Amino acid sequence: MISKTAADTALDLLLAPRCAGCGAAGSWLCLSCRDLCEPVRHGRVTAAGTYGGALREAIHRFKYGGERALANELGTLVASCVANDLATGIAFDVVVPAVLHRERARARGYDQARLLAAVVAERTALPLRIPLRRIRAASPQVALDRAARAENLRGAYVAEAGALRGARVALVDDVATTGATLAAASGALRAAGARAVRSYVVALDA
Ligand SMILES: [Zn+2]
Repeated sequence: MISKTAADTALDLLLAPRCAGCGAAGSWLCLSCRDLCEPVRHGRVTAAGTYGGALREAIHRFKYGGERALANELGTLVASCVANDLATGIAFDVVVPAVLHRERARARGYDQARLLAAVVAERTALPLRIPLRRIRAASPQVALDRAARAENLRGAYVAEAGALRGARVALVDDVATTGATLAAASGALRAAGARAVRSYVVALDA
């Protein structure tokens, strides 16, 4: 019989998924905490829930805690919002992430929007496309009001010219606050020929 050392046990505990909401073992966001999420819609933005509780904790770990495995749980939540719309007859041709600025992604080691969009594409069987490029990292927006924030982000994205001619796009990001980032990304997608853009995020922080 092989007995585990204390170090092995500590390592197991460290690596074993635990729910960001309630701490239950087995997944990064357990089913009951996922069930507490109420999808919300604000204009052309749909969120799997409001930014709070388990969702807030999970997003925080996903973005700042290096727990990229949460992309699966959080992406699945976003995918169900897209699937709900597909079921009502809204059609999409592609899933597109609102990518991070390259330097930001490099610093973090991954691009959370890209990871989420990949899960959404997989779950909805829609093709994933990466036509957007963030050309300016946002300057700190905390102190800006809504209008100033939109102005700050104008021109923050470019999309491959003609890459999306006629496409109906499901745009994916992690959190929407004023929606300025998504508006800037949508504008770039439309300029590249997209026919329609709807946005989907994990949480709405309004
Ligand atoms: Zn939980």
